[in-house]
Amino acid sequence: MSKVFDILIIGGGVAGMTAAIYGLRAKKSVASIEAGAVGGQILATGRIENYPGMAGVSGRELVEKLKEQVINLGGEFIDDRAEGIRGARKDVKTVVLSDGEAKGRTVIIANGSTERKLGVAREEELLGRGVSYCATCDGAFYRGKKVAVNGGGNSAVYSALYLSEIAEKVYLVHRRAEFRAEKGLMERVRETKNIEIVAPGEVVGLVGEEQVERIRVKTGAEVREIEVEGVFVAIGREAKNEAFLSVVELDKDGYIKAGEDCKTSTPGIFCAGDTRAKSVRQLVTATADGAVAATGAVEYLNLLETR
Ligand code: NAP
Repeated sequence: MSKVFDILIIGGGVAGMTAAIYGLRAKKSVASIEAGAVGGQILATGRIENYPGMAGVSGRELVEKLKEQVINLGGEFIDDRAEGIRGARKDVKTVVLSDGEAKGRTVIIANGSTERKLGVAREEELLGRGVSYCATCDGAFYRGKKVAVNGGGNSAVYSALYLSEIAEKVYLVHRRAEFRAEKGLMERVRETKNIEIVAPGEVVGLVGEEQVERIRVKTGAEVREIEVEGVFVAIGREAKNEAFLSVVELDKDGYIKAGEDCKTSTPGIFCAGDTRAKSVRQLVTATADGAVAATGAVEYLNLLETR
């Protein structure tokens, strides 16, 4: 691919797509590199309840609207995986793809984060056979069945509430007695008859040959087995920035170091959304980052032109 884009965005989630909209509206050429489904993590949210003015919209609906907006403004999507950046300090930077490369005068890294794994034996083997990281994606397979959700944050609680409308019974297993999830959500959980809270409880094993049949849950010295056909893991997310280790500075957890201006340690490279080291990772902060990063990229491009 020989075209040099003004702004090359790594990641087609809400942060990346918002950056694309801002870049395109400033009349810059923009391409977004996305290897998976355009939309990213928000696709897993059935009902968005905390995005200002949009309560009740589904993640999928929001993504469709965003994607349409990007395409209508002339944005391009590159269906490939970014594996690194070459010539990061040059005026034209090269993003190395699984299949070829793409060039940009500026790069916005908006690659999100990845789900934290349980870290128990056979987790990977049983993925798609009882183990899932996305209730709204896979919940329908468990109609009338017993499932467990692991985690104590908003994601776990939303997953448990969503699954309670599909499954016969939902065990919400969390390692501590206190939940991080919003109080209002916890009240809804406690009012839902087919959700049973198992806390403190640590998932220490998966039992089943071809499919999950039971989970092993440890409380104190005692380990009990709970019969479930599915376990939905929602124990937070982790950075996935190994590919950019030599390009931008990362914090101790692997998130990209950048302030509210979304500028990384390398001129012309910005970051946006969950990949950035910050305290609040929400839809609204991801879109805000997208706008800030693109505005920074546009300023940088304008400066390049005056040189
Ligand atoms: P989170 O808030 O970080 O919660 C992760 C949960 O997993 C915590 O309860 C944590 O336990 C537990 N955990 C972490 N590592 C674990 C391990 N190795 N084994 C067992 N349990 C483990 O993550 P999240 O629920 O994915 O949410 C991420 C962010 O997105 C939050 O800011 C959340 O509010 C937001 N969010 C918002 C919405 C919404 O409002 N629409 C929906 C989903 C998420 P401890 O509490 O013991 O540390």
